[in-house]
Parts: sequence; structure tokens; C-alpha cells
Amino acid sequence: MQQQPLLISGLIEHVAMNHGRVNIVSHLSETHVNRSTWGDVRTRSKRLANALETLAVQPGQRIATLAWNTHRHLELYFGVSGMGAVLHTVNPRLFAEQIVYIINHAADEYVFFDVSFADQLVAIADELPLVKGFVALCDRSELPQLALPNLLCYEDLLAAASPDYLWPELDENTASSLCYTSGTTGNPKGVLYSHRSTVLQAWAACTVDGLGLSARDSVLLVAPMFHVNAWGVPYASAMCGAKLVMPGHDVSGPRLFAHLRDEGCTFSLGVPTVWLGFFNYVESNLAVLDLTNIRLARVVVGGSAAPRAIVEKFHQLFGTFVIHSWGMTETSPVALVCNLLPAHEGLPLDKRIDIQTKQGRAIFGVEIDIFSPDGLRLPHDGTTVGEMKVRGPWVASAYFGDAPGSATDEQAWFSTGDVALIDSEGFVQITDRTKDVIKSGGEWISSIDLENAAVGHPKVSEAAVIGLAHSKWQERPLLLVVTKPGESLTRDEILSFLSERVARWWLPDDVVFVDALPHTATGKLLKTKLREQFREHRLPTEV
Ligand code: ADP
Repeated sequence: MQQQPLLISGLIEHVAMNHGRVNIVSHLSETHVNRSTWGDVRTRSKRLANALETLAVQPGQRIATLAWNTHRHLELYFGVSGMGAVLHTVNPRLFAEQIVYIINHAADEYVFFDVSFADQLVAIADELPLVKGFVALCDRSELPQLALPNLLCYEDLLAAASPDYLWPELDENTASSLCYTSGTTGNPKGVLYSHRSTVLQAWAACTVDGLGLSARDSVLLVAPMFHVNAWGVPYASAMCGAKLVMPGHDVSGPRLFAHLRDEGCTFSLGVPTVWLGFFNYVESNLAVLDLTNIRLARVVVGGSAAPRAIVEKFHQLFGTFVIHSWGMTETSPVALVCNLLPAHEGLPLDKRIDIQTKQGRAIFGVEIDIFSPDGLRLPHDGTTVGEMKVRGPWVASAYFGDAPGSATDEQAWFSTGDVALIDSEGFVQITDRTKDVIKSGGEWISSIDLENAAVGHPKVSEAAVIGLAHSKWQERPLLLVVTKPGESLTRDEILSFLSERVARWWLPDDVVFVDALPHTATGKLLKTKLREQFREHRLPTEV
């Protein structure tokens, strides 16, 4: 057989040749929509590759982006990696010190940024000595006066560059992109993906039992392109020729609903927090919204556990199937996908949703298992819990800058820091992060299960559970609740609701109602902050 490397340039060439007229709809602001095609993405990413060569960018060098989901960011995905440089997507929601740290750690040559991040960049530009220039993702008329050294305009660069470019024949193991984990503790750590790992992951996303993405899909790309490459979906969409709808900076409920309706979206993906906001909007506007215009068939929910309420609402309101998925920056990210098996056909809805709230099964390309603290593999009996480890061709072996293999054990297992159980059919259920699990009287209480049960209450908008030190039980759960706007709820009401859904000894020892909960830069509950905030909280069960 021929030795053809698996390259990101191969994806853009394929989609332009075979699906060149398929639309890319990019929302730059509420009133400014840019419509282009996959064919245009190829032409403009070739212009970009030429422009980068003119700027003397060398293969292997890093190019940072601080950008929303737009067509220009998509062009960077293909142009930067395609010409052999490395696309470093910076999460703009990180703290300024973390952004400085990662841009310097990655030694980025240029930073391509959306104008909405200009002030953020101006404030830190002095601390980025390695950056040679800043490229604003706009045209000349939109370019503001900014105190940034070597400020360039993206559309000018493209206009001046030739659309003729021959992609280099790279080794498929060449680095293509770089993402840093949010680093809730310590500095963020970089994960460097290769062309090969990216193409393999895209392939898996296009399989029916992966994310089932196809040319018949119109994809609303809600997951940010700075969060683990929007879960690989931009590459997978190029592989299969799906239409892409890019929401820009605004992922509020009304905007998402409008995009789903106006662009006939059949597929979407995002973290639970975004969908909770979406349903808050939809449910409070049911009287005026026409839900029959929504054709959304599948939505991937991941990044944190999908609450049962989200799975149910998608089904009830739109007939949408939630594909629950688990992954992390270190696993590219998609590793577990929850699709149904023949044995589940004809199950009552309730039982089917029980399955959908699990994180799913390993897709080909990743091996998953659970281990005891002394490293023994644990049984897949649906009850034994252990630390989940993972290995495979799109799992990190080391963090960027560290020695090869330094992030895994001798058998190449990467420790996920997640605690899970696996049933006899291979369905994995994440019960907690090792550091969030609540250790009560020698047993473990799953904070995720408690949170999901609480979010099932019709008056609850969001919930978090943390373990507080307890003199008798070692730790006991404290429930923090944000109620929906205009609703009021009592401690007894929520506890009695929970008592029908979880074991008695799991019931939180106390409930605190709060206005808002802190989140990480990728929209997950920031439990370190909550533990700090409620460290002195005295549980009523304390003697
Ligand atoms: P961050 O968002 O913190 O930068 P990651 O996206 O890499 O980092 O986070 C990975 C972690 O997110 C996993 O280890 C797991 O704890 C959590 N996670 C991701 N998907 C799920 C899911 N479907 N259910 C439960 N936890 C999840």
C-alpha cells in the first residue's frame, strides 16, 4: 500500500474538492454575518500560508490565536498547521498571568486576535518579549488604533498573498496544534497534537458509533475553538463535508436558538453550562417560540457530566438525541462516547436516559480501564470504582517541553484523575474527579451524581456539591444551589426532592443558596474556589 501521511492539509484539500460549495456561516457580531464555503476556506488558508512564509514563520514555530469561533479562526486551523507551523489556541478566559505564562512557555511567534480581545492584549504586551507581531482578525476599516508593537491586519495580509500554495508533504507525526489545560491548580500544561493524531480523531468522530458526523449535517459549533480544538469537530467537519455555523462570541440562549432555526442545524456540541442557559431561555419563552422549526437531531454534551435534566429536555422539546461524551485536553479530547446498543432498543425512555447519562464506551483508538490505588485492574461489574486510565494514539505521552513518556507509566497508561466504574458492556460512568470525591465514613459519595440530581429540580438553575471536613464522618456533602430567576426554594424542599433520588446517607448535611457559582475558563464548576470559600462553614450535623 502507498505510504501517504495523514495530514491536516489533506482534510482541507478533500473538502474543497468534494464539498467545496458547502457553507461556512460565521457570526462576527449580531448584525454582521460572513457567508463563505469550504472552497473559500481552502483558498484563504493558502493565502494565509503564503502570508506566514512572508513573515518568515518556520515549520514547527508556534502561532497563537485569541479568537472566537469564526471563519477566520477556521482558516487559521488549516493554514497554520497546513504549512507546518503549530496552531496554539489560547483560551481568552484564562487569567492574564496565565495567558502571559502560556504564550511565553509556547514561545509563540505571532498572536492572531479578535479585536474584542485587543484591550486584554495591550495590557500584557510588554510581558511577551518573544512575540514578533500581533495580527488583528479584521479588515482595515475595523482596525482600531492600538498600542501593540508590529500590529498587522489579517485581511491586508491575505489580500497581499497569493492563493497558490503547495502544501508541504510533512511527516504525519509533525506537531500541528497546541492546547493548554486550564490548570485549576498550578500552571497550565501544554498538550501538543500531531497531524496523525488529529486526523485519526476526526475519523473517529465521523464514524456512526463515534459522533456520527456526516455531509448531511449542519453543525452549530458551540464548543469554543480554544477549548481542545472545539473537540476536533472542525477537522471532522472537513473530513465529511458538513456545513459549519460559527456563533462568534455570543452563545446566549436566544442566539443559539436563532442559529439552530435559521441554519437548519442538525448537530451541535457544548458543555452543560451552555445548554443550561439555552434551556433557561427556551423554557421561559415557550409561549412565543416555535419549536417545530428546530431540526437538531444530535447534540454532543461533554466537558463535565451531562445532567439527566439536559438529556430529558433535549428529547422532550426537540426530539434531540444527546450523545454524552467524555474526554480531556490530554485525550484530543474525544475518548468515551455514549451511543446505544441493540440491547437497548425498545427500552422505556426512562431506562434509555439512564444509559445516556453515563459517559459511554471507548471508541476505537483509545483503551480505558479502572485501577485500584496499588495499580491492579478492577472488575467491570458496574459497581467497583477506581481511577480511570487511558492510552492510545491520540493520548498525550508527555506535556509540551517535558521528556517523552513523562506523563505516563511504563505501560503507557495516562492517569486521568477521574474516578469511574465500568459495567459488563463497557459503559463507563465517571463518579468524580479524584480530588472532588467526598469520603464519608470510609465510603465515597459522588458529587457529580448529587449535583445532577439537584439540577433535576424544576426551580434549580445550577448546583454544586463539595465535601466539608466532618469530625465523625471525615467528610460530608454541602450543597450549593442557584435557583432560577424569580423562583424561591427552601432547604427542606430540595432535600426532600433529593431523598427520592439518592441513597439516604448521601443526602447533603446542609444547603446554601447562592447567587452564582464560580466557573473555570472552560465553563466547569471551580470547586477549589468553593472549598476555599466554604472552608469555615459549620455543618449542622457537627457535634
Ligand atoms: P479543562 O477544561 O479543565 O481545561 P479538560 O477539558 O481537559 O480541562 O478537562 C477534562 C476533565 O473534564 C476530565 O478529566 C473530567 O474530569 C471532566 N469531564 C470531561 N467530560 C466529562 C463528562 N462527560 N463527564 C464527567 N466529567 C467530564
